[in-house]
Amino acid sequence: MQNNIDSPDGQNNNDYESWLDRPKYTNVKTLEDRTETRIPQGTWVKCENCLSQLSIEQLEKNSYVCLKCDEHLTISTDKWISLLSDKNSFKELFSQIKTSDPLEFKTAGNSYKDKISLLQKKLQVDEAVKVGRATLNDIPILLSVMEFSFIGGSMGSVVGERIFLAMKMAADKKIPFISVARSGGARMHEGILSLMQMAKTSAGTSMLSKAGSPFISIITQPTMGGVTASFASLGDIIIAEPRTQIGFAGPRVIQEAVKQKLPKNFQSAESLLENGFLDMIVSRNNLKQTLSQIINILKN
Ligand SMILES: [Zn+2]
Repeated sequence: MQNNIDSPDGQNNNDYESWLDRPKYTNVKTLEDRTETRIPQGTWVKCENCLSQLSIEQLEKNSYVCLKCDEHLTISTDKWISLLSDKNSFKELFSQIKTSDPLEFKTAGNSYKDKISLLQKKLQVDEAVKVGRATLNDIPILLSVMEFSFIGGSMGSVVGERIFLAMKMAADKKIPFISVARSGGARMHEGILSLMQMAKTSAGTSMLSKAGSPFISIITQPTMGGVTASFASLGDIIIAEPRTQIGFAGPRVIQEAVKQKLPKNFQSAESLLENGFLDMIVSRNNLKQTLSQIINILKN
């Protein structure tokens, strides 16, 4: 099976595999990657769906949604944080928890440790999730946002631990926990320790529930594997962006296993909403307002 993911470090190797499947997505890049590699930063971005040239200024005003075709463009963790939290309200937490290399994992002669350092330098993010306290329309929240460009947003020990601790803090303070998921699944470089994060984050959701802290899970393109199979699917309210692909194993693997052609909208947010796995599909432009309305309803 061919891996056709563009790796941020320019190597087309196997490091984008989730635990059980290789994501099929091609050329998944953040908005920053696009501006770096294709056109001068700060001017234009090409929509990967309709190929229209869009000015960064217009996109910023439209929450990075294509004005021509409604494609919800891939954006960085920091842009998500600024979209959902009130200005300057976000205070990062648990950034002291750093990635280790418990298995001394190597692929094609490259060590996991070196890969992490290289990505940290290139992307200026230290892991595949950022968590912190913030306010959303003046409501105090704990916010967790995943970063897909960091090893496919995969969940290893640091991702799981940061999310769990943020959930615990939200439960202790009895405030809402909001998560933005975007992930290829569990991180194979950490073996069984990464699978353990599924249980840990799921336990975190139960803590939130016992404390009466609402958990709103926002699922964005793409969310697969161990993240779908743990906390992302356990929100009190589960919201997806339009046309998000959400699943466990990828469609190619499933099609090969069942030997049947899959329906056209297989694993799409729209089909999952129809079948009761999601509560809402919300356009990014309306997301912050929708979140504050939901929290206000749940508070009363
Ligand atoms: Zn477009």
